[in-house]
Amino acid sequence: MIYNDFKGLKLSRLGFGCMRFAKDETGAIDQGCVNAMFDAAIAGGVNYFDTAYPYLDGKSELAMAEALKKYPRDSYFVADKFPGHSLPGPVDNSALFEVSMRKCGVDYFDFYLLHNITEWSIKVYEGEAYHIIPDVLKKKEEGKIRHLGFSFHGGVKLLEEFLNKYEGLFEFVQIQCNYLDWTLQDAKAKYDIITRHGLGVWVMEPCRGGKLAKLREADSARLRTLDPQASDASFAFRFLQDLPNVKMILSGMNEVAQVEDNLRTFASHRPLSEAERSALLDIAEGMKNSVPCTACRYCCAGCPAGLDIPFLIECYNWYKGDSALTASTRLDGLDENRRPAACVGCGQCAHVCPQSIDVPGVMAELAKLYAEGPKWADMSRSRQDSIRRDLNMK
Ligand code: SF4
Ligand code: SF4
Repeated sequence: MIYNDFKGLKLSRLGFGCMRFAKDETGAIDQGCVNAMFDAAIAGGVNYFDTAYPYLDGKSELAMAEALKKYPRDSYFVADKFPGHSLPGPVDNSALFEVSMRKCGVDYFDFYLLHNITEWSIKVYEGEAYHIIPDVLKKKEEGKIRHLGFSFHGGVKLLEEFLNKYEGLFEFVQIQCNYLDWTLQDAKAKYDIITRHGLGVWVMEPCRGGKLAKLREADSARLRTLDPQASDASFAFRFLQDLPNVKMILSGMNEVAQVEDNLRTFASHRPLSEAERSALLDIAEGMKNSVPCTACRYCCAGCPAGLDIPFLIECYNWYKGDSALTASTRLDGLDENRRPAACVGCGQCAHVCPQSIDVPGVMAELAKLYAEGPKWADMSRSRQDSIRRDLNMK
């Protein structure tokens, strides 16, 4: 196992993400499988386990605790998250924190994150009535949080603003980063910003929910010509291993064979060759299916609706690149009169666009995708209910 030094801690570079545990035929988490995966991971040197209050309908924390209980508490690190993005309204933050500690069977968290900061959830995290950041800081003062960070799904502008505003408060930032999102979701720019602020980069979705672990046949065959024995996933992990400020790579493993494959990849750091790296970036380009907006903004000044057209096209590209939830949460953060449905179809933008993009057509389709697509508010309803139950709220 390769390790990283972080504030004097020896962290395995591969971390166990606890959001994708296998389920049995009744729909319950397959605890036997979780135990076997943890045993294999720990034997292979993994010492970091990442869960969150809402994962697996609130059952991830419990399953993780069950699998870890036979190991000494100081032999592993536990990361958990405050679910500010899923609250039904202002709640007793301290009580909710204690619920997570109880479920995880710990009296302190090695790592604790504000979960899922976006342009939308920032209003909750910074909302005075919610009082989240002061309450979380109090837990740190009490010694119940050793290292504080946040997970982030917003844009680069918000990331920069947030880090400037809270300089010195956080020690690490968890972002979605992989060779596809390196450019598609600005992971490179985010990595650079976090590094410039002197914080550690934690990576989630290194294989993009499995998409990069099972590539299209032609893409996979191309990688086989470069390394006949290696799995598609191993290339995705090696791309991240090459980034020196990536301190933690979280993989949401759900079977022992996957743990074993990952352990092989993390046994040593084998930098990508130039040919391997350019093949990955090329494969990523082929997966994007995107509208080629260069963000020159020639179209913006004359838009009677005042729309941020390149940003909206970026959202459209996320929908087309399998990132519908990212797109919809970013659109949620806009005032209604700045969303794509506000486009009046005048066509001035298409007239001036050097890339000949049919902007009104894109806006119309984007408005439809947003109206019909997944919404964070819908997805978080059951999470809000479970918070109400755990805190005995009406
Ligand atoms: S077509 Fe829509 S996006 Fe383009 S300038 Fe007119 S209102 Fe703005
Ligand atoms: S003019 Fe065309 S390329 Fe430039 S920002 Fe507008 S849509 Fe994008």
